[in-house]
Amino acid sequence: MNSFPKVLQIDNNASWQQLLSHTINDPQQLIDLLELPQDFLQGAINGAREFALKVPQPYLSKIKKGDINDPLLRQVLPINTETEQVSGYITDPLAEMDANHHDGLIHKYTGRVLIIMTGACAINCRYCFRRHFPYQENRLGPEQWQQVLDYLKSDPSISEVILSGGDPLATSDERLEKMITDLERIPHLKRLRIHTRLPVVIPQRITPNFVSILQRSRFDNVMVLHANHPNEIDHQTSELVTQLKTANVTVLNQSVLLKGVNDSVETLQYLSEKLFHSGILPYYLFTLDPVKGAHHFNISDEHAIEIFSKLQALLPGYLLPKLAREIPDRPSKTLLHK
Ligand SMILES: *Cc1c(COP(=O)(O)O)cnc(C)c1O
Ligand code: SF4
Repeated sequence: MNSFPKVLQIDNNASWQQLLSHTINDPQQLIDLLELPQDFLQGAINGAREFALKVPQPYLSKIKKGDINDPLLRQVLPINTETEQVSGYITDPLAEMDANHHDGLIHKYTGRVLIIMTGACAINCRYCFRRHFPYQENRLGPEQWQQVLDYLKSDPSISEVILSGGDPLATSDERLEKMITDLERIPHLKRLRIHTRLPVVIPQRITPNFVSILQRSRFDNVMVLHANHPNEIDHQTSELVTQLKTANVTVLNQSVLLKGVNDSVETLQYLSEKLFHSGILPYYLFTLDPVKGAHHFNISDEHAIEIFSKLQALLPGYLLPKLAREIPDRPSKTLLHK
C-alpha cells in the first residue's frame, strides 16, 4: 500500500482541470496528509466502498490537521456508520426517478427544469442525496441533449433552465458554451441557473473565459453556490464573486443543515455574514434528505426549527436563508418555518 498517486503540489498556477483530476481518493492518503489517528482508516475504507472518497486539494487545505471534528473534514471523511442500515433512509429519497421524463432532465416544478449535465463532482459530500443516483443511465450525449432541447421547445411554460449534476462546472467551458448557445435559441427561456459547489471547493474554476461566456449570454444568470460552513469561504471566494458580478450574475448560496458541521446558531450566523461580505446572498438552508448512509448527519425538525428561530432573531431578513426540505410530489420546496 505505498503506491499512492502523487499529490500535485498546490501552487497558485495549478489549473482547475489539474486540481479536478488530482483529488485525494485514497483513505490512507487522506489520513496521512491530515495527520489523523490511524484508527479511522478501516471506517474510511468501509464507507468509501459505497460512495468513493473524493477531496480536492484547495478544500483539503482548509481542513485543520489532526482535528477529527473539523467541520469540513466531517463532510468528506467516510466513516463506518455510513454502512449501517437505518429504516427510512433510502437510495432515492426525493423520488427523482419518477420525474425523470428523459435522460438527464428532471421537470418537477412549474417553469423550471433541472438538467443533470454530468455525474461528476469535484468533491464527494458524504450527505449527498444523489450518492446513489444512477448517473450512468442519465448520460447526456448528443442524442439525449437533442431530446432535452425538443422537450424545452415544446413547453412554453418553461422560463428557467437549471444546470445541475453532479456538478455542471465539472465539464469544460466548450461544452457549457455550446449548451448555453443551444438554449438561447429557445425564445421562451429567460433565466439560466447554475447549481454548483465547484467555485467553493476549487475557486480556480471561475476563469476569465468562463465569466465571458456568461457575459455574452442573453440570459439573466443566477449561480447558486453550496457552502455549509464559514471555513469554506475565504478571500478567493470574494474575488471570484467579484468576477461573476462583472457578468451580472446573481450569486446565491444553499446549505444543508448537518449535525456536527453547522448545527449551531453562531456558525449559521457567521456563515450568512461571511457570505454577504463575499457578495453572496443566503438562499436555502435544507434539512437532510433521508439518503442511505447519511443518517448520522440528521437533525430533528424540532431542533432545526429551534436553531432557525434563534437565527431569525439575530439576522436581518435578507441574510436569513429559507429553512426548507424537499418532499416528493409537492409543487415546490416545503418551508419548515413561518
Ligand atoms: C430544487 C429544485 C428546483 C429549484 O427549486 P427553487 O425553489 O426554484 O430553487 C427545480 N427543479 C428541481 C427538480 C428541484 O429539485
Ligand atoms: S457537490 Fe453536490 S452533488 Fe456533488 S457530492 Fe457534493 S452535494 Fe452531492
